[in-house]
Amino acid sequence: MATEATILIVEDDASLRRSLEMTLKAAGYVVVGVGTLAEARRMRAHYKPRAILLDLGLPDGDGLEFISAVRAGDLTPIVVLTARDAEALKVRALDAGADDYVTKPFGLEELLARLRAALRHAVQAAGSAPVVRTGPLAIDLAARVVRREGREIELSPKEFEILAVLAAQLGKVVRHQDLLKAVWGSERADIQYLRVYIGQLRAKLEAHPSRPALLVSDPGVGYRLMADTEWSGGVSRLGRPS
Ligand code: CA
Repeated sequence: MATEATILIVEDDASLRRSLEMTLKAAGYVVVGVGTLAEARRMRAHYKPRAILLDLGLPDGDGLEFISAVRAGDLTPIVVLTARDAEALKVRALDAGADDYVTKPFGLEELLARLRAALRHAVQAAGSAPVVRTGPLAIDLAARVVRREGREIELSPKEFEILAVLAAQLGKVVRHQDLLKAVWGSERADIQYLRVYIGQLRAKLEAHPSRPALLVSDPGVGYRLMADTEWSGGVSRLGRPS
């Protein structure tokens, strides 16, 4: 059924919107592209999209309002298209209920990976997979065992907890304060703790700990455990930093 796979793109930059439409269509999605909030509301009501790609700066209003309006009704995955150096805005978008964001200019493979992650989480909802796999890692959340290329890796309890929180949100950014709250019970815990433990995890899990490919930092926002590592060398970029 067509409406089940429909992705709503809300972006007022017409050339970027067209590129996104072509990319998503080529990837097998049904796409509806609009350039204003008013159209976005209408098309959302009409098509009930499976996911929404949303630019925040729109001619007739603020995309953050749209996020809140969507979240008041349902859990449709929302991936925000945002400018570089807009950390505060990214955090506000996540606070409002966005699932993730990509930073302009972004690679097409990166965007598709984020979209797949957002859709996957919408499907999983309850009961997450007992074993999460990405790259060389297999993380058994129930047995609390982590393997890298089949070899068991010794992690401290805190290291495991951090990795488990990231694995449960595979491919998505987890905000610093959410990690602190999940692992230390308070979002006011020192963010420096996190940096130390992430450093230890990278030393144990990454092929090149100084150039992490699995445990990636989103500066000013949080960390993510990469679901698709193949795009990191991606070439084509879409959208200008604005
Ligand atoms: Ca815009």
